[in-house]
Amino acid sequence: SKFIVGLTGGIGSGKTTVANLFAAQGITLVDADIVARDVVAQGSVGLKAIEAHFGAEILTLEGELDRAKLRQRIFNHPDEREWLNQLLHPMIRAEMLAQVEKATSAYVIMVVPLLFENGLDRLVNRTLVVDISPELQVNRTVKRDNVDVSQVNNIINSQCSRSEKLAKADDVIDNQGEISSLKRQVLALHQQYLQLSGNDNA
Ligand code: ATP
Repeated sequence: SKFIVGLTGGIGSGKTTVANLFAAQGITLVDADIVARDVVAQGSVGLKAIEAHFGAEILTLEGELDRAKLRQRIFNHPDEREWLNQLLHPMIRAEMLAQVEKATSAYVIMVVPLLFENGLDRLVNRTLVVDISPELQVNRTVKRDNVDVSQVNNIINSQCSRSEKLAKADDVIDNQGEISSLKRQVLALHQQYLQLSGNDNA
């Protein structure tokens, strides 16, 4: 089976930027955010189960999942949140592993924003954390998304802390510098992962 690197990091840390640099080396990406959307897409088994549980009012007029309404229904309802997680987490895990097995690259990068928080680090062979200071997280996210500082701080505080992530990481990329420094770090890790996955042809 495939060698899997779990790529994570807080909001605005540079996960997408780093993932794209690995993809440029021919490495297949499996993106948890995309899979999480696919398992509740129109016509999916996941969406049918959600409709059966919450009623048809959980759908938009177009028949898609009304995410705002779902958020409302689970907000302050831990039992409903738990029901939803019990439904979706196994589906997301299974679909991510199916995509890994289909991949033909030397190893696979799984991009998972909440890798440690959701225990998905158990699925991977190695964890890679993109690290930046909370100040830079705020600066870059505000610049990218045009949101307020307090919103970004709330998200940072809901995620596992910088020190916890660093303590759990097998590998760390420092993304506080220039993109050129990021590229050098990715190329070095790429060589390391080719060796670890037994694909270095040495
Ligand atoms: P999120 O979890 O919020 O989706 P992310 O971890 O995927 O974020 P990116 O979108 O890759 O982070 O990066 C956040 C922003 O910072 C983007 O606008 C990106 O272009 C910018 N950025 C990333 N790395 C650097 C860097 N080294 N220097 C300057 N800007 C950067």
